[in-house]
Order: sequence, then C-alpha cells, then structure tokens
Amino acid sequence: MPAENPKLPLVDLRSDTVTRPTPAMLTAMWAAPVGDDVYEEDPTVRRLEEAAAARFGLEAGLFCPSGTMTNQIAIKAHTEPLSEVICEQTAHVYLWEVGGIAFHSGASVALLAGDRGRLTAAQVEAAIRPENVHYPTTRLVCLENTHNRGGGSCYSWDDMAAISEVAKRHGLARHLDGARIFNALVATGQRSEDYGQTFDSISVCLSKGLGAPVGSVLLGSKAFIQKCKRIRKVMGGGWRQAGYLAAAGLYALENNVDRLADDHRRAARLAATLRLQPYVAEVLNPETNLVIFRLHDTQPAAGFLAALEAQGIMASSFGPQWIRFVTHLDVDDAMVARIEAALAEIS
Ligand SMILES: *Cc1c(COP(=O)(O)O)cnc(C)c1O
Repeated sequence: MPAENPKLPLVDLRSDTVTRPTPAMLTAMWAAPVGDDVYEEDPTVRRLEEAAAARFGLEAGLFCPSGTMTNQIAIKAHTEPLSEVICEQTAHVYLWEVGGIAFHSGASVALLAGDRGRLTAAQVEAAIRPENVHYPTTRLVCLENTHNRGGGSCYSWDDMAAISEVAKRHGLARHLDGARIFNALVATGQRSEDYGQTFDSISVCLSKGLGAPVGSVLLGSKAFIQKCKRIRKVMGGGWRQAGYLAAAGLYALENNVDRLADDHRRAARLAATLRLQPYVAEVLNPETNLVIFRLHDTQPAAGFLAALEAQGIMASSFGPQWIRFVTHLDVDDAMVARIEAALAEIS
C-alpha cells in the first residue's frame, strides 16, 4: 500500500484532477508490459491508443502527458501561421493554455460568446472569414464538451452535429477538447462511437474524472496522428516506458466511466443544498460534476473558503464571488454529508 500524504485536505473539491490511483489501478500499473515508446515498442501504450481510438470511432491515438499538450498539438497540426481558430471566449484552449495558440501555432483566434460555453452553428458560420488579404484564414473550429467554465455544460447531439456540418461545408477542421467527454457521454447517453463522424480530432483526458494519475490521448486519422507525433517530439513529449501510465489509463477506461453518474448525482445534491443557504445568490444548474455558484456580496469569498478549509474542505475561487465545487472519484457520500454540515454552519 502507498503511504498516506498528511498534507492533503480531508475533502478536496478543487478539481477532479486531485484523485490518486487506487490499489487496483496501481496493481494494473506495475504489472504492465512496457518498452521504449519513442521506438514504438511499448505494448501497453499501443493498447491504450488503439482502445481509445476505437471507442470514439477514429483510427489512431497518441498518448501525451497532459490535455494542454494534446489540444495544442492538435491545433498546430490543423493550422499554419496566419490561420484563425474559432472557439468560445472562455474555452480552455484559449483561456487556460498560456496563450499556446499564438505561441505554438502563430494562429489568431475568433472568440465567440456562448451559452455556458456552447456555440451555435449560426454563430460559427458568421465567424468564418471571407477571402480577403486583410484577414487570417479560418481553418479550425474547437469545441469543448463538457465545458469547464460553463459549469460542466453538455452539448446536445443536434447542436454539435450542426456545427460540424457548417465546418465541413466550409472546409474547416473540427477539434473537440474532450477533457471531460466521458462526463458528457454519461450525462446525455450519447454514443462515443458517433463522435468520430463529427470531429477530425478529439482530446480525451484520463486524469480527471477517470482517476488516472497522468495522461490524455489525442485521437484522429492515422495520417493526422503521424503528423502529431512529430509535434509531440519537438515539444519534448516523446517518452519511454510510458506503459506504466498507459496501464492506469486503460484501467480507468475499463472501470471508471459508468461510475461518473455517482459524481453527477453528488453534484446535484450539493447544488440543491447550496440553493438553501442564505449566503448563496445563484447556482448554475450542474449538468455533470461541476457546481459553480455565486455568493451574495455580503459573504466575502475568501471568508467562505477559509470557513470550509477550517473543516478540512477545499474548494476553488472562480472569479469574484464565484466558487467551484468539483465531485470526483475521491468524494463519497459521507464526504458530501460532511460538506453539507459545514455549509449549514456557515449560515
Ligand atoms: C483540464 C482541462 C484541460 C487540460 O488538461 P491538463 O491535463 O491539465 O493540461 C483541457 N481542457 C479542459 C476543458 C480542461 O478542463
């Protein structure tokens, strides 16, 4: 058994990235056959890449250390300098990836205001640049499902398919930031295999709700992934016996997808409890595992977070007066009861 970390809070609602591997996942990791992945000799990495690609109806996969890397590799592979990427103004690829679109790809961004992060086909079509020497060339549409800043909101299949159709008609590539795609699949009942028809590339995260310690997989056609492999290499992301990490990802795909429904149920319960508190002004309806809410101006956010922390509960600030709670593999029903008691004590 791994040693406990005394520095960790009792209940950590800051993110679904804070999960630690379970003994069963660790067993799968140490038992994995591995080899040098730069030589394409790691059988476990290959198994993970193939399994993830098949699940989403795409040909090939590329295992990477982070979702930022898979997104930025995909954007670079789909564009060239003087291109433009269409995305929502609070998209992770724009807001939380250090300006990587400019840095790695030399591309511009067309930022659209969505409904909790969701765009419409009409918005996307209106943002496509006409041919004119003054403009960058629109090359790529990036969607995010579920949408992080939008509070875990999900696209309907029809809206996503309509955007995909517009992009295809205008010859644009379509990338999905699917850091929490499994939350969307579990919440909506959509079929993962259908996504390969709707997107040219998909980034899937294994280290958020699925509970693996590290890793995201980029999915696409064989030719696209071959191009992406060179970009990963120039970023220093060629790695060696990564099969130990891939084994955790395979374990997560096989065991931790259906249970996301428990995280969604707990998020809904926390949202209902928050709505009863006099110091809470507004709670975004949690469609999945993210609960975003606003405190009344009379309740300072720093004091609220400190009161929770005194009870061993950590959460994050999400803008002035806004707080985010995230449910995940390491938050159980007893912890939810503990959070509810702490919330009642604050009022
Ligand atoms: C977390 C996240 C990422 C990036 O993942 P990292 O592994 O932290 O780099 C990308 N997109 C969304 C929507 C995310 O929530």
